[in-house]
This record gives sequence, structure tokens and C-alpha cells, in this order.
Amino acid sequence: MELNKREVLSSKVFDVLMHSPTFTAVLSGPDHVIEMANDLYMLTVGPERQIVGKSVKEAFPELESQGFIDLLDEVYTTGKPFIGNELGVDLLREPGKATVKVYVNFIYYPQRNDQGDIIGIVVHGIDITDHVLSRKKLEESRQTLQNLITNIPGGVYRYNYSDPWNFVFVSHGMKSICEYDMMDLEGPDVVWRELIHEEDKQRVLTALEESLGGSEGYNVTYRIKSKSGKYRWVTDRGQVVYDQYSHLIAEGIISDITDKKLAEELDQKNQLLFRTYAEAMPHMAFVANAKGDIIYYNKRWYDYIEGLEGTEGWGWKDKSIHHPDDLARTIESWGKSLESGESYEIEYRLRRFDGEYRWHLGRAEPIRNKNGEIELWLGSNTDIHNQKQTEEELRISQERFNLMTQATNDIVYDFDVKKRSFWWNDNLVTIFGYPTQELGRDVDWWTNRIHPDDIPRVNKLIKSVLKGSQVSWAAEYRFKSGDGAYTDVLNRGYVWREDGKPVRIIGTMIDITPRKQIEKALQESEARFRALADNISQLAWMADANGNIHWYNKRWYDYTGYGLEEMKGWGWKKVHHPDYVNAVVEKISICFKNGQVWEDTFPLRNRNGNYRWFLSRAIPIRDENGLITQWFGTNTDITEQLGIEEALRKSEEFNRRILESTPDGIKTLDLDGRLLSINKQGLKMLEIDDFTQLKGHEWFELWSGKYKKEAINCFRKAKNGELGHFEGTKPTLRGKQKWWDVLVAPIYDGQGNVDRVIEVSRDITELKEVNRQKDEFLSIASHELKTPVTSIKGSIQIIERLLEDQNYELIGKFVTKAELHVDKLLSLIHDLLDVSKIQSGKLEFNFSEFSLIDIVEDCVEQMSHQSKKHIINVKGDLSQTIRGDKVRLEQVMCNLLTNAIKYSPDYDIIEVEVTDAVDEVKIAIIDKGIGIPEEKISQIFEKFFRVEDALHQFQGVGLGLYICAEIISRHDSKLEVFSELNRGSTFFFSLPKA
Ligand code: ADP
Repeated sequence: MELNKREVLSSKVFDVLMHSPTFTAVLSGPDHVIEMANDLYMLTVGPERQIVGKSVKEAFPELESQGFIDLLDEVYTTGKPFIGNELGVDLLREPGKATVKVYVNFIYYPQRNDQGDIIGIVVHGIDITDHVLSRKKLEESRQTLQNLITNIPGGVYRYNYSDPWNFVFVSHGMKSICEYDMMDLEGPDVVWRELIHEEDKQRVLTALEESLGGSEGYNVTYRIKSKSGKYRWVTDRGQVVYDQYSHLIAEGIISDITDKKLAEELDQKNQLLFRTYAEAMPHMAFVANAKGDIIYYNKRWYDYIEGLEGTEGWGWKDKSIHHPDDLARTIESWGKSLESGESYEIEYRLRRFDGEYRWHLGRAEPIRNKNGEIELWLGSNTDIHNQKQTEEELRISQERFNLMTQATNDIVYDFDVKKRSFWWNDNLVTIFGYPTQELGRDVDWWTNRIHPDDIPRVNKLIKSVLKGSQVSWAAEYRFKSGDGAYTDVLNRGYVWREDGKPVRIIGTMIDITPRKQIEKALQESEARFRALADNISQLAWMADANGNIHWYNKRWYDYTGYGLEEMKGWGWKKVHHPDYVNAVVEKISICFKNGQVWEDTFPLRNRNGNYRWFLSRAIPIRDENGLITQWFGTNTDITEQLGIEEALRKSEEFNRRILESTPDGIKTLDLDGRLLSINKQGLKMLEIDDFTQLKGHEWFELWSGKYKKEAINCFRKAKNGELGHFEGTKPTLRGKQKWWDVLVAPIYDGQGNVDRVIEVSRDITELKEVNRQKDEFLSIASHELKTPVTSIKGSIQIIERLLEDQNYELIGKFVTKAELHVDKLLSLIHDLLDVSKIQSGKLEFNFSEFSLIDIVEDCVEQMSHQSKKHIINVKGDLSQTIRGDKVRLEQVMCNLLTNAIKYSPDYDIIEVEVTDAVDEVKIAIIDKGIGIPEEKISQIFEKFFRVEDALHQFQGVGLGLYICAEIISRHDSKLEVFSELNRGSTFFFSLPKA
């Protein structure tokens, strides 16, 4: 059997046992393992021994042969306590030394657990060695006395002082006096009075009679007739007294004084008697004279105190024999007795040879002579140390008990089973309101106050407790208070048994009204909980710690159409969808096992056979020790929410896609205008890689000047729920200037309040440019078209008038002029057509091989017609053959030469330079004209771009260089320019050799 040590030894019990005034040890198990031993126990068995944790057999090998282990075994198996009285045990107190004989009174008391199984034995006992040894000595000395009385020469007697003087007792000595046996003398046949010599008889009778009134007894000498008929002289000393039955008896001693020697011997023996008696006494005896000088100490004194020499007389005062605190008291008391002659009695501590002060009871009685004067004091000292300690411990224990009963709120009682009477503590007065004088001590007083309905039950219980062997009892019943009302009490008691019979029941009676109220409140709260649970919109249930469901709310039954019988335990599985039930069971089982909160979503079938979706949760309910006692679960119908959630999910997905795929940059701002988020396109447009460098920055700060004002204004509008819109230009973070179309709009929260602002910006840089170009083109085109058309129209009007005059010479001039303008118009129309062809990719080329002269000479020729002022110098070898579109390259040459002339109003030499390279020919057209500002050079090949010059106004639409660059690029080359303002320009390109 596995032993629970706590069962054998609770800490409280341990404490009590440790301080028990008896030697105490607690043994557990069939091997009697020593679980604890108090100090007294250790002192008894030998303080140096290591015994705790060992079996008795191991701890005390010397006990095995003495039968104690067999006794323990018997107690352990039968459960009957064993009480040993004055058993001698040989203990090996110090290893290697001789055993010591110790006498003990003890009990082996079986210990049972709650189930009644024996789990150990408690050993309680008292070391009575001192007591036994003293008693043995006393017995010996009594025996000695008896022997002396029996054996002293002379007869000691007692007889009834009425006829016929039959002896009640005679000592052996009588035989040697009168030759009669004791039997004869104590029998009816021999009558002492008749043995007295006739001559002496009357004198003896008179002496006895006279002694009746006095205190000294009688002392007579007379002759006695022995059995053989011889007379012997005897001295008879004795007295006539009343015995305990009020009969007059004569007691005395008869000495044969026939022989004087005999008398002397008798005297000596008397002295010996005293000495022997005194020496054999278990106490420390002393004799003092009338002045109080100690004249004799018996041997016990010498054994007890070391260095008794010099203590005679009053020497003991200075020898520190008494405890310093007791000495003055002792001297005073002794002095008083000496003065008054009254008995001396005092308790004091006397120092033993080993230095220990032990309590003694000191006594002395005066011995007076016949004149009543004190001759001697006979004194004794009895060791009462253990008794005194026991008394003290008892007093403390009683005090503790009293304090405890006062301090507790419980009613404490002690019921004496035999007397059928109670002791109650004061709480019966204070708590139940009984006046002290009304407190009954008998059992009926108590029974009469139990509620009549509870009496049979309580009585039955009590009877079974008293008959049985249990050590405790408990009952709840109603008990009447002083005011007549009944209170719920819990009565718990410990049944004290002696030899298996109940002797006392010590217990408490507690007012459990508060507990009952809590129970009631609990029941009510439970009812309230159920009502609540039945009315919530969810399905609810409760399961035990293993997950067996034992309760569902009404909704569950309403929904499923099943009752508890079908649903309890794991019956709920039948309303689950077969496709989901296994996963649900698996998940919930893990949660039940691990004590984790359970959450799951699954369909449940309703009473009509339709499934609806439920979000289910269960939480464990734990007791104060953290152990799960219950599970509480709910199932919430989320079928509708699932639909909404799906729609929400789709809409979110939709929004996300829009945000990702839109070409616009979209930012969200908080109500302080700080950037919260930006979409990918937005990042790209701003030319940044990482939003973190912008996050939290104020959006307006991205703008400057008037656009910043616009931005702030639009943001305010959006905050007020309006739309803000503006166009503005600002550089990207990498410095690229761009134009933006910005829309700022509010975002509302669920309550309709603006909680964020959205900003959508579109890159309109290109659009802006196209618009600019369009505007510019329109203004240029209208001017360039209007000029020749006006001129042609003017020429035609003049020609009409000249036709009337028939002035053909002038007509010819104007026709030529009109033709010139028509050519200009045609050239413009050609350019526009070319641009449109370039843009639609339809500009066609006819490649062939031809000489450079073909494209240079005609052009130079044409230019000389256009401007008489400018001279075109051609340098280099023009005879080389190249490959390309002859017409288009001629167009390029003419265009570049036209520009060179046009933009050199103040300088008249133009150069065409042809340079030969390995595979190609480089052609440069050089003028010393107005040149192009550096910052504009990059733009001059764009369509419609013209450098505005405040000093000069040149005609043109800005298409020539655009077309030229395109044509050269189609020849796998590049048209390039080198120009300095007011210094002239050089346009150059290379062409592949044929
Ligand atoms: P346009 O019809 O204006 O001449 P082009 O495309 O031929 O158009 O030339 C574009 C612009 O380049 C001109 O408007 C002029 O400002 C500049 N440009 C062209 N050639 C020269 C040059 N040789 N010297 C100075 N500026 C020139």
C-alpha cells in the first residue's frame, strides 16, 4: 500500500506531538518506519541515535529480541491498541555501551486514514523508570520493615481490646516468647489474657485501662505462661486505640526481658531499623535538631548533590544547593516552622550533581519528647520536577485551549459520553444569545434545541457514531437560538475513545447560515443564468471537463428539433453536416484536451432539414485551482453575415484592383493633411521607390507658390465634404517638372463623417505640351497661311486691274509674285503632310545610289535665286556616291540652307563642307548667323518648336528641322547641331557611302 505521509502526520498534529509532554513517535507502514519522534522520545531512546526515516527494527536492533516488534505487528494487523504498563525495556542508548533498563507506560495506538485503513502507529508513553525504581526500593524497604517486624525478637501484636483479647496480628517473635505458633495465637483457642500470670493480671488490666485516657499508652512488665508451662518476664509496651471501625484495639510490642542481653540487642536493632529505613527511603531525608541544625543527611542526598560536605548545620545556605530565586524563601519558611513548631512544607529547586535544578517538595515534621518539646525534625525532599513540568504544560495547554475557545467564532463543546454532559464555550451565549444561567449541561438540553424534524436523523447518526469505531462525526441541523428562532449549524466532532469505547466528543458547532445563503444565492443565480441562456439569440451549451455536453439552452432544442436525450454527450454530431463533422470533432477534441478556447465555423441542420452557418466558440471554466470544471459554448448564426462578408470581400478586392491598375496616382490623407498611403502608380509618378520617405509628411508641402495655396484650399474643401480640383505644376522628387491634374475628395466613415481625404493626381504634362503646341501651331499656321494668301489675293486684284490697262509686263511680275507665294503655301502644305505621314509612319523612302552633286548643286542654285545677298561656298569632294533617298536628302539640304540664310540676316557667307570618312561622308552646313541659345538647342528638333527672338522676327512654323531629323534618322544617322548665340550654327550629319 502506498502511504501518504501527510495522512499519517499532518503539520498541526506534528506540532502538537512534538511538544507533547509524553514521549511520542509516529510510525508508518507495516515496517513501522519512524516518521517523527519528539524530544522526549529521543531523550528516552538515546538522543544521539539517528532513527527518523528508519524502521523500528533498523533503528532499535536491541528491541527485536524483547518482543516489541511483534507487538507493533500485532497492533498494525489487528488495529487493537496495545497498552503497556511498567514494561521494562533494555535500550542501547549509546552505541557500544551497555544497555540501560528503562521502565515505561506506553500505548501503541493504530492510525487510520479516511477509509479506515491502518496506515501507522502512534507511540505515546512516559518514562517511569525513576518512579518504578523508587517504588521498588520502597517495596524492598517495606519488605525489610515487614521482615524486621516479623523477625525481631519480641512480639508485635494487635488484638481487640474486648473479651476475649483475640489477636488480629502477631509477629513471629511472639513464638520465641510464648512458644505458641502465630496460627495458634491468631486463632480462638489461645487467649492472651489467660496466659498472664494470675498475680500480674490485675496490674496489667489496670495499666491498660488507665492508658485509655492518656496519650502515652501503657508500659507494663509481667509474666506470661508459655506453651510448655514456663513463665517468662516480658515488657509489654503499647496503646489502646480506636481502629478505623471504631473498635478499641491494643497494639504493642512485647519484649522478653528474661534475658537482658536480649533487651540490649533489641535496642540496637531498633537503631538499625531507623538507619536502614532512612537510607532506603526513596526521598532525600534529613534530620535536624530543635534549633534547625541539620545533623543527618541520608545517602540519597549524597547521590543527588556533589560536595555535601560542610552543609551540616546551616551550612547549606552558602553552598548554592537551592536555586538563587528560591533560597531566601526557603530560609524564611524554615525559620517560621522552627519558631512555630508547625510542619514545614515548601517547593523549591535543588541543584543536582550535573547542574540541573529540579523541583522538589521539601517537608519536615517535628519529633517531640514526652513533654511536648521538639527534639528533632525529620525531613524529606521529593523530586516533583516531572510532575511540576507536566502541571505547567497542562496549564499552558489548558490556557491555550481556553484562549482558542475564546478566540474562535465557533461554538466549542466537550461532551462527556459517560456523564452525558456538555461543556460549552461562551459563544453559545454570545452567538446563540442564551443567558449564561440558561445554558444546560445535559444532553437533553442540547437535543431539545434541535429542530424536531432533524432530531431523528441526528440521533440516528449519534448512535451509530457511539457504537461504531469512527473518530469523527458531522451533521447539519437546525438549532434553536435564545430567541426561539432556528439557525442552520454544522456540528463536527472528534470522538475520543479509550479501549475502543467513546469517552468524549470534542467538537464545534458553526453557524452556517451565511453558507446556506450563498448556496441559495447560487441556486438563484443558476436559475437566472438558465433563464438568460434560454433567451439569448445564440444556441448555447455546457459540457463537462471531458467535453460531454449535459445542457443545451432552449434555442438549441428549438433550432434542432431534438431533446436532451438525443443530444447529450456527443449526440450533437447528428445535426452536423457530414462533410464538416469530422473536422469539427477533431478540432474541438484537441481544444477540450488542451484547455484552449475553441472557435470554429460550420453548418448545423435545423428542424426543417436546412443547414445554416454558425460561428461557434467555447471557453473553459476553471475552479480556483485552475482545473477545468466546465465548458461553456455558443453557436451564433452567421449565415447572413457570410453573404455580406463575401460581398464586402469582393468589393474590397475590386477597389484594390482599381487602385493598382489606375494610371492615376492616388493618395490618402488624414484630416491634418498628412500622407497615409499612396498607390504604386502614385509612387512611380513621383519617381520614388519607397513610401516611408514620404509617409506622415504634409501633402501641401509637395507644392509651392500659388499651387500650394490651391492645394490647401482644395484640401479644406474636401474636409468640408466638397470636391476640390486644380491643375498645377511641380517637379517629381527627382526634379522632373510635370503638370498635374489634381482632384481632392472626402472619404466618409460609417457615421457619415469625413475621416480621411483622397487625392487623385493625373500626369497631364504631355497633354499640356500638346495643347501648347497646338495653340502655337494654330497661331503660326494662321499667320503663315494668311501672309501668302493675302499676298496672292493682292496680286490677283492688281492683275485684274492691270488686265483692264492691258499692262502685261506688270501683270507678269505680279503673276510671278503670286506663284512665289503659292509655292510657299505648297511648301507649307508639304511640310504638314510630311509631319502627318511621319506621325502615322507612312513617310515612304526610295533608296538609290547617286552622287552628292545631285543633292547639293540644285539646292545651292535654288538658294541663289532666293537671296541675292548670300554666297554659298561648297568645300570638299562632291563626286562621291552615296546611298539614300535622293529627293528627301535634297529636301534636307534645301531646308538647312534655307535656315542658314534665314537666320543669318547680317552675314552673307554660308558654307557647305563635305568631309570624307571611311564608310561615310560627313556633310555640314555652317552659318555665322544669330545662333541658338544653349538651353534651347535640345528642343529645336521638336515639331512646332521655334526659338523666340525679340530682336528678329523670322517666318516659319517650326517643322523643317523636325522633318529633317526624321529623314536623317531613317538613313540610320543623326542630325546634330553645334551653335553659339550670335556666333552662328553648324548643322551636320553623315551618310553612308554606296
Ligand atoms: P522654321 O520654319 O522656324 O525655320 P525650322 O524647323 O526649320 O523651322 O527651325 C526651327 C527653329 O530653329 C527656327 O525657328 C530657328 O529658331 C532655329 N534655327 C533653325 N536653323 C537655324 C540657324 N541656322 N541659325 C539659327 N537658328 C536656327
